[in-house]
Amino acid sequence: MSAPIQRNQQPGWTRFRHGDFECTVVTDGLLHMGPPRDTFPHADPQEIDRLLADAYLPTETIELDQNLLIVNTGRQLVLFDTGVGINAELGVKTFGKLTGRALSSMRAAGIAPEQIDVIALTHAHPDHCWGLVDDDGNKLYPNARVCINRVDMEYWTDLGNIRDTMSEHMKDHFRGAHLNILAYRDVITFLADGDEVVPGITAHLTPGHSPGHMVYRIASQGRALLNWGDLCHHQILLLKRPNWAFKFDSDSAAAAVSRLRVLDWACGENMEILSYHFPFPGRGHLRRNADGYDWLPTRLELEAPEALS
Ligand SMILES: [Zn+2]
Repeated sequence: MSAPIQRNQQPGWTRFRHGDFECTVVTDGLLHMGPPRDTFPHADPQEIDRLLADAYLPTETIELDQNLLIVNTGRQLVLFDTGVGINAELGVKTFGKLTGRALSSMRAAGIAPEQIDVIALTHAHPDHCWGLVDDDGNKLYPNARVCINRVDMEYWTDLGNIRDTMSEHMKDHFRGAHLNILAYRDVITFLADGDEVVPGITAHLTPGHSPGHMVYRIASQGRALLNWGDLCHHQILLLKRPNWAFKFDSDSAAAAVSRLRVLDWACGENMEILSYHFPFPGRGHLRRNADGYDWLPTRLELEAPEALS
């Protein structure tokens, strides 16, 4: 008698210690971006296919994970970005049923949304801020304040920026940010370059992919972890070709300038990276070489982190 086919998977979270901080990464599920030549619009399609095939990656679609970092500093619980969320008219409609897993992943990791004190957004795109509210516009994180760059919030929540020539998906970018972020309008902290979010965590302005995109440096016990959001979407294509444009960049040239600057910074400080869209959990280091940068993933830890001292 053959054993039954299981058709299930382990819960979508993992945990590690970073200095005095306990970090948890939860997934909001896999995004299918469609054909690579559409996702990286100015690149040579043959070069895209070659780089993907050389890395044993599919050439017909770009797959991006959504890795939400939660940092427990011992005093506060900080969530970075929210995933595409559970709204039937926004996230689920646009990104499909593989997504919208953030809350269940979080609960499986023993974290209740009510416990989140701070939500630090890298930017206001769908896969980063549409998970702030439920279908009725109610807060999913009732005790959290939201940190974001002012330029990013003001741009994406202003429905006056919608143009008739935009696709419905692009119009939804504004509608979704408006619905989600403004639900927290009374508890928003605006962050500028270098601002502290909570002790040990600082925000750094990296405009381009979005007008006010921020990355977050998380420092404890002399170790630094850089949570870089959408600074770099792909572990092969944009590390080997950091000048390439990404489909949803607001300003691709500025995005490339920010990307090159942060890649250089991260290598110079030997920082560990937590990358939102790299293969789960998106944790690793960079190594510079003659052909851009290599991604060196950190081992997925299967042991519980040591007790905090
Ligand atoms: Zn993204």
